[in-house]
Amino acid sequence: MKKNDIFEIEITGTTDDGDGVGRMDGMAVFVPYALLGEKVRGIIVKVMKSYAFGKLLEVIEPSPYRIKAECEYFYKCGGCRFWNTEYEKELEYKTQKVKDCLARLGKISAEVKDVIGCSEARGYRNKGQFPVSKDGIGIYAQNSHRVIDMNRCIIQGAENPKVLAAVRKWMKQYSVSPYDEETGKGLIRHIYTRNGDSGCVVAIVATSEKLPFAEELVEILKAEVNGLSGVLLNINSKKTNVVLGKKFVTLWGEDHIIDSIGDLKFRISPLSFYQVNKKQTKVLYDKVKEFANLSGKEIVWDLYCGIGTIGQYLANDAKKVVGIEVVPEAIQNAKENMKLNSIENAEYYCGTAEEMAPRLKDKKPDVVILDPPRKGCEESLLKTVARTGVKKIVYVSCKPSTLARDLRILEDLGYRTEIVQPVDMFPRTPHVECCVRLCRE
Ligand code: SAH
Repeated sequence: MKKNDIFEIEITGTTDDGDGVGRMDGMAVFVPYALLGEKVRGIIVKVMKSYAFGKLLEVIEPSPYRIKAECEYFYKCGGCRFWNTEYEKELEYKTQKVKDCLARLGKISAEVKDVIGCSEARGYRNKGQFPVSKDGIGIYAQNSHRVIDMNRCIIQGAENPKVLAAVRKWMKQYSVSPYDEETGKGLIRHIYTRNGDSGCVVAIVATSEKLPFAEELVEILKAEVNGLSGVLLNINSKKTNVVLGKKFVTLWGEDHIIDSIGDLKFRISPLSFYQVNKKQTKVLYDKVKEFANLSGKEIVWDLYCGIGTIGQYLANDAKKVVGIEVVPEAIQNAKENMKLNSIENAEYYCGTAEEMAPRLKDKKPDVVILDPPRKGCEESLLKTVARTGVKKIVYVSCKPSTLARDLRILEDLGYRTEIVQPVDMFPRTPHVECCVRLCRE
């Protein structure tokens, strides 16, 4: 097999990234946008030792679940993977992905429930980050840093096209320069948006603290964006792929959003993590509540607590909540959110979970919540948790492969994975969230 070979194969699987996969000459061939069960014709674009990448040229026998993609950027963007697939098949894929990861990578035999789907696959994202370059404002082309000019991302909120249009207009009118990743020259790098009940906060990420025509920018955004509640400047002068710098300057309005989940309100600063799909967040947190099954007497550790959401969602049913989080702004929000929600039985510590948890000796937990970022937990943290002898752990994960690894570690430390509930927080993308209950054997 070599580059530019034409192939015809049957798609027999779907990868972790949502790509179709078939076999030829004893090798796996990955074909983005080809669906399970299809017969396709493609061209080999890259050959590795035991696998190859192909580009889809023609669907010879289409899947009955293939649909016309609604998003005009779908085949260029790479953020979503399933706009060409009936949603029910996407859900099947997500459940299966979790089952496969847990069984193969973690040798976990617990029951995996069917994923809980999301009733709305459009407009669910409350956070956007849009790269800016000389080619426009929008999205990166798949596997590259070339910017494709874009009007509307369907999974984003309705105000986003207006934000993009307003910034475009301002840059054009006042000849404000876009950043150039290669030379490091130019001013505007990204547009970052956050939406909540309180409105929409727009941050312009620029290389310098001196933003020309800042007042004009605010006026244009105010005129064009309904529900605008704040305009911020974020300064990022480093040569890096990280979108946000550490420093924000408020140009107008609020520097945070307020959003609600159930009866609770949360103040969220731009550097603090917040789930991107509000509707499904409630579904997820209700699962956490169900799995934690509190009686009012428990001490609950909320590790990787962010702005305190999960712990505060449980606080009424617990004796005490102890949160740990590494981002200082998030811990500050968590403390503010205690006041917003009249919660008095929570306390927060800023630092890494692996460093701080061993210091909580006098607060022996009855339930531990783990909600780490994609890379999962440090093994040392899992050992600390096990050493407390805690009977119940609820693990919330946004990445099945690291979840599988961590569940294996916890099982080897004496816990049993009882039940796994996937939740679709990210419709149309290959990502899936899981809520897991473990108990001490
Ligand atoms: N439970 C929260 C946040 C989950 S996201 C919610 O539901 O909204 C994961 C969080 O872990 C982020 O806020 C991130 O800043 C934090 N984090 C990342 N590494 C960490 C570490 N080593 N120790 C503690 N917190 C960490």
